[in-house]
Amino acid sequence: MARTTNPEAENILDKEFKCLNAGFVRLVDYMGGDESIVQAARVSYGRGTKSVNEDRGLIRYLMRHMHTTPFEMVELKFHVKLPIFVARQWIRHRTANVNEYSGRYSIMNDEFYVPEEAAVHFQSLSNRQGRSEGEVPADLRAKVLEMLVASQRRSYADYEQMLESDIARELARINLPLSLYTEWYWKIDLHNLFHFLQLRMDVHAQYEIRVYADAMSEIAKKVAPIAWEAFDDYLLRSEKFSRLELKVITASLDVSRITMETLGQFGLKGREAEEFLEKLSKLK
Ligand SMILES: Cc1cc2nc3c(=O)[nH]c(=O)nc-3n(C[C@H](O)[C@H](O)[C@H](O)COP(=O)(O)OP(=O)(O)OC[C@H]3O[C@@H](n4cnc5c(N)ncnc54)[C@H](O)[C@@H]3O)c2cc1C
Repeated sequence: MARTTNPEAENILDKEFKCLNAGFVRLVDYMGGDESIVQAARVSYGRGTKSVNEDRGLIRYLMRHMHTTPFEMVELKFHVKLPIFVARQWIRHRTANVNEYSGRYSIMNDEFYVPEEAAVHFQSLSNRQGRSEGEVPADLRAKVLEMLVASQRRSYADYEQMLESDIARELARINLPLSLYTEWYWKIDLHNLFHFLQLRMDVHAQYEIRVYADAMSEIAKKVAPIAWEAFDDYLLRSEKFSRLELKVITASLDVSRITMETLGQFGLKGREAEEFLEKLSKLK
């Protein structure tokens, strides 16, 4: 079988999706798309599905039932330029292959993340890891940015001075701040990319990594649009309920009023609608 390419993905190959003040993410290469997911699934389900509609149904079935390995047949390779503090959060995702710019081998560039004024917030009181919605006065915002830039300048000037004195690059760099930009190649399969996106597009993730996750979501949509739509429906915009939460929902719902006809009005049809009714019947 010939290599699967997707015109939408070919169009964005190598295109930089700008992120933050000096970063980007770009798709360097990819392998497979929706067809490769279907092709792999047919190995386990036989040659049952043929038409585009059936392919879509199959991909959505796989996503709904967490039959994840067919999604691993699609690979995406990104080139990312990102601040080191974003890279520290990102690297916790262990299922990717990474190759990063070496500060031992090369001179680190004089490029730092400086937040936009609008991204400067007070500490959230309800979420210990987040920012609050409250407005920071303009003079304080300006002062914060001034302090960030001043210490970036100072630490880079020290770095340069050490390099000029022939101090080893691996040592001269150790005081450079987390706001410095680094670069890496990051390769991952679609299943694990969806997991990364689900965690890092979420409002609980830090704004700066969310910017990258949003850009990569756009890229993934071009590579495998049907799989992405299923991801959006069943993972990204779905909610998980605990046993007690379900108890509350069940007590407040008249499940008997929900029929195939009602579901059709919301676009839920066929097997997906039947599965939903089956789930509802378990809510007792
Ligand atoms: C909003 C947010 C806040 C966070 N805050 C913190 C924090 O304060 N401190 C902190 O340390 N981390 C924090 N993290 C990181 C978080 O704990 C995870 O390390 C990170 O999200 C990667 O998730 P993962 O392990 O599921 O992903 P991956 O590493 O991509 O792994 C994908 C999946 O593969 C499986 N897997 C991979 N490796 C193993 C393994 N060795 N053993 C078993 N299963 C494996 C697991 O099922 C895992 O879910 C935070 C993450 C988020 C999104």
